[in-house]
Amino acid sequence: MILFRTLAVAVVLVVLNGSIQAQMAVYQDGIEWEVPPKVVPGNTNSTAPSDAIVLFDGKNMDAFEGGQDWILKDGYVVAAKHDVKTKQAFGSIQLHIEYSAPPEDNDKGQGKGNSGIYLMDGRYEIQVLDMFENETYPNGQAGSVYKQIPPMADPMRKPGEWNEYDVIFNAPEFDMQGELKKPAYVTVIINGVCVIAQYALKGKTVYADAVPHYVAHPDKLPLVLQYHSDPVRFRNIWVRELEPPKGKRVDEPHFMFGDKRIKYEPEKPMTPNKK
Ligand code: MG
Repeated sequence: MILFRTLAVAVVLVVLNGSIQAQMAVYQDGIEWEVPPKVVPGNTNSTAPSDAIVLFDGKNMDAFEGGQDWILKDGYVVAAKHDVKTKQAFGSIQLHIEYSAPPEDNDKGQGKGNSGIYLMDGRYEIQVLDMFENETYPNGQAGSVYKQIPPMADPMRKPGEWNEYDVIFNAPEFDMQGELKKPAYVTVIINGVCVIAQYALKGKTVYADAVPHYVAHPDKLPLVLQYHSDPVRFRNIWVRELEPPKGKRVDEPHFMFGDKRIKYEPEKPMTPNKK
């Protein structure tokens, strides 16, 4: 029997009947994790999973304040008159929403098919814009965190075609004094292409007369869809509230070698393979 102790594992090679079996010291993180809940996925990635809150499925805009003023069409809704905001407040979410630019819009720049996904009651905008043969400033393109960072790519489809936005938003955290503890993070995937990856927001997205900065706000706030005077179309809107996995610490991190407990001693790495 040859005994090696490595940085993370101790391995015993046991020669048994001509075969070699490895026994390892197994890392235990000391946390008793709850079993994650079952979720039935949709038939496609644009279909709401079983635990999603459906905000718009083509039938009505009842989930939104002011939603009655947007124009219902065959399976989609057309922006009109003003922004709409959800009646329900959300913190960290996964959002799915599909957007189509109006084919009849001959405007250009920020005036072409403009809308916005406004997280936390209008504070943080993910830009929605018609990018077809349309030039604008990069940090105002579709998929940008508006005037904070451009998207890494432009995968937008033509007017009249549907674009799928999938947004992962981690709400910011503030302490009791209102100081920022943790910034908001956002990831944006458009039509299956990741355009924003784990971006730490600098604060509220602004157009003019201000620098992005945080002002403390509640943990949960409505989601707003912007009306920017363009009759943009939306469909298949749903969110999932993101709850971190639950677990409680019941022990310190350690290793188990068979039924024997081995203390984790990072200051004593011993390995025959590493210098
Ligand atoms: Mg906008």
